[in-house]
Amino acid sequence: MRVCETQAEFEQVLSQLKLTPCPHCKQVGRLIRHGFLRGYDDQHPRRKTVRAQRVFCSNRNRAGGCGRTFSVWWADKVARLFLTAESLWTFLVNSVATGNKRQAFRELNSGLSESAPYRIWKRFREAQSAIRTALAGLCEPPKLASQQAAEHTLAHLKAAFGDHFCPPVAFQVRLQARFM
Ligand SMILES: [Zn+2]
Repeated sequence: MRVCETQAEFEQVLSQLKLTPCPHCKQVGRLIRHGFLRGYDDQHPRRKTVRAQRVFCSNRNRAGGCGRTFSVWWADKVARLFLTAESLWTFLVNSVATGNKRQAFRELNSGLSESAPYRIWKRFREAQSAIRTALAGLCEPPKLASQQAAEHTLAHLKAAFGDHFCPPVAFQVRLQARFM
């Protein structure tokens, strides 16, 4: 997986595939585009937009590649999620601040069902230990009195990426990994 912060970077990465070593087998000159991953999100509820480009290390026609794939992502997209990373961050911050997930979600005006905030929160909860392990490599977690795990995770994200407009975007770019 490769995560790009901007559209320009995304396009640049794709334009240089022929010069880029395969992340699996390290051979150069084998990578080809292999279809887009598209999806709806809250910024584009009616039209699917490109979330990622799949890339194939071609082993067809004796191309010599390893046959594996990976994907190049935009950092404001979160895999299998209708919310952009920015909306997700707003939802998480407001949920923790108010203790009211349903209301925090409603304020996004995403048009998603009433059960969506619980589903998304569950995914975040399950991702938290991986997020905090990754963050621990960047900076110490801030000391908080709170017993709430989510509050610690958000504070740790802010400590690591507080100067960025959207810490989950910064997380994905810096760590080249999925936020959740
Ligand atoms: Zn390969």
